[in-house]
Amino acid sequence: MQILVADDERSLRLILSKALRKWGYDTVEAENGEEAFSILNLENPPMIVILDWMMPRMDGIEVLRKIRAEDREIPFYIIMLTSKNEKADIIEGLNEGADDYLAKPFDLGELRARINSGKRIVELHKELVDSKKKLEYQLEHDVLTGLYSRRFIMEKLNREIARSQRTGSSFAVAICDIDHFKKINDSYGHQAGDIVLREFGKILEGNIREYDSVGRIGGEEFLMITPLKNEEDEISLFERVRSKVENGRIAVESGEISMTVSIGVTFYETGKNSDKIIFEADKALYIAKNSGRNRVVFSKNQEENS
Ligand code: GH3
Ligand code: MG
Ligand code: MG
Repeated sequence: MQILVADDERSLRLILSKALRKWGYDTVEAENGEEAFSILNLENPPMIVILDWMMPRMDGIEVLRKIRAEDREIPFYIIMLTSKNEKADIIEGLNEGADDYLAKPFDLGELRARINSGKRIVELHKELVDSKKKLEYQLEHDVLTGLYSRRFIMEKLNREIARSQRTGSSFAVAICDIDHFKKINDSYGHQAGDIVLREFGKILEGNIREYDSVGRIGGEEFLMITPLKNEEDEISLFERVRSKVENGRIAVESGEISMTVSIGVTFYETGKNSDKIIFEADKALYIAKNSGRNRVVFSKNQEENS
């Protein structure tokens, strides 16, 4: 772990850096507050900071204020170094966000112990941020296919609705449902069924454009959201997916599986909420299923009399 030593006194910087390196830390030095502040704004800044109070150009407390005003994923661990021993100053430093302080002259053994506890806190913070990210990823993705989860793709749908309301743009929503998937499970086993779902997910993912999204909303049901640029493009997108699925063969242990997919599509129109959109895509899917499967059906949303 790297430590920034910010002090205008060269001899003290040397003593500190030498001791820190002996204890296994990397060090960077700054001889005034401005320099310290710019080092802390580098790409991979040192996470522990020994910050002198009295320094030219910008003093320690000012550096502290500016650093704490920034929005950081993992906060710096900042130990103020001060010859000011007044209680009021110490309180000011802590109030401005210092994690700890040491009054000069200080004992190196004490500094070492305080640095070590800072290191533990920085590491804990890192672990917390990592597990938060992992958890977010898990909530947003489907474990089997790696596509967006139901929860996340529905959130995307709501965001897309909000965006369309703002910009007047539109988008298509498609529910893609594998035909007779139960038969695949029954003939080849559940594990082969899982492989089919994963491969099906890859086909969807491989055919969307960068501004489209796809998620798994049920067992063998997937949702695609595609902003409309040119309606013809979107129509050919769904047809392409349908045909890719029909013509693909999926290798499993006991042979090759072929399958088809039915797709129900609807287009967003002003005033529709997500329930209504899903309802209409579902209705189109139902028609696709009942008219022979392996097809794309568009619900052109004739206004219903209500
Ligand atoms: P249809 O053409 O009308 O859509 O018929 P279908 O058989 O595809 O639809 P149905 O809803 O009757 O069956 C879906 C099956 O998907 C039932 C369920 O056991 C299976 N399934 C759901 N989740 C998973 C999964 O994660 N893995 C596997 N292998 N099967 C799953
Ligand atoms: Mg000084
Ligand atoms: Mg099905």
